[in-house]
Amino acid sequence: MAHRLWQYVGQGWDRGSCMNTTLILKLDVSGLPISFVGWHTAARLLTSEKVIWSMGDTAITLRGGTNRDGERSMLHLPAIISVSDRSNIWNQENPRRAYRRVIFQRDEGLCMYCGTSVPFRHFQMDHIIPKSRGGPDTYQNLCCSCGVCNDRKKNRTPDEAGMKLLAVPYVPNPAARLILSGRAIIADQMDYLKGYANLRKTRREV
Ligand SMILES: [Zn+2]
Repeated sequence: MAHRLWQYVGQGWDRGSCMNTTLILKLDVSGLPISFVGWHTAARLLTSEKVIWSMGDTAITLRGGTNRDGERSMLHLPAIISVSDRSNIWNQENPRRAYRRVIFQRDEGLCMYCGTSVPFRHFQMDHIIPKSRGGPDTYQNLCCSCGVCNDRKKNRTPDEAGMKLLAVPYVPNPAARLILSGRAIIADQMDYLKGYANLRKTRREV
């Protein structure tokens, strides 16, 4: 396959960032954000004519083989590509799998019971309805908690434990999940994602 010949040259937009973290935002045929893909995948999609349209500045530049005149071919990967694939991730109202990093970012790193700021490596995911009582691993049933509150709550619901949630855990839609995933997102991608994301503020107004 031709894409195997491509070599990474660098980013086309910002020399200040780490080149290995740059990802390309993939949209479905209707323009809905689906996922981030690495440059290998983006190059394959572009060269196999799966890309219907693209937007944003060049995010990554790749260098290809040399032609008979000694010229190297270059491939410029745009920040955002829309492909002809279909995806059903936007049809899932409450995905079964919730990502730890997304929950942490959604709750802005705050314990949803006492409001303490918790570092990522120390935060605990609390099952609002305890797992032992059938509480699912979904975004609606998981929140960021500090160790103290998690210990105190034990195998109880917040009501039973006399503890109040500071914010209602919401289900981030696919665009919001991409923003909350903690990946490096470049400006064109962020602008696009924000147009679709159902982000809510967690911090309460004081
Ligand atoms: Zn707490």
